[in-house]
Amino acid sequence: MKSLWPVFHDPSYKPSSVERLSLHWQANLRMLRRPRDIVLFTLISFVPLLLLVGFQTLFPNLYSVSISQANPTRDVAPLLLAALVTMLAFLVLQHFAFLLAINLTYLHHVRSVLLDRGVPLCVRCAHLLPPQTPEAACPECGATPPSATMSDSNRKASIDDPTVMDSEDSPR
Ligand SMILES: [Zn+2]
Repeated sequence: MKSLWPVFHDPSYKPSSVERLSLHWQANLRMLRRPRDIVLFTLISFVPLLLLVGFQTLFPNLYSVSISQANPTRDVAPLLLAALVTMLAFLVLQHFAFLLAINLTYLHHVRSVLLDRGVPLCVRCAHLLPPQTPEAACPECGATPPSATMSDSNRKASIDDPTVMDSEDSPR
């Protein structure tokens, strides 16, 4: 995971904001037709919350202050610090979970939509390929074009015939 934000495509490919909106709209619709992706996305998204609850269950003393009559002015600074650190850790975890979920379940839909629109992207790394040599291997990662592998033959078919629904089962 080399980026802190999902890399949907080569940065040198610059769609307009309208194109980007329709691109993600289509990618979302594609993803909604994939129960596996929806379930995986949801599961990954809940992991940080489970970790948070688990951590607070394991270390309840970190998050409680007992004010007794003998000691009525107990310092709440440690409690605030614990809460702050926990919240920051949770947000960082949540972001990485989001990144992982996007990369595993959504990214390939965006790239499929782009490929369907004829944008010459490398299927593996999304590098923008030179349009004049569509059959050449990707100069970035060496991957060969879609027609070269079994799992991508369906995608190729859906490019050739727009009525064919996408049916790739193993995006990786
Ligand atoms: Zn590549």
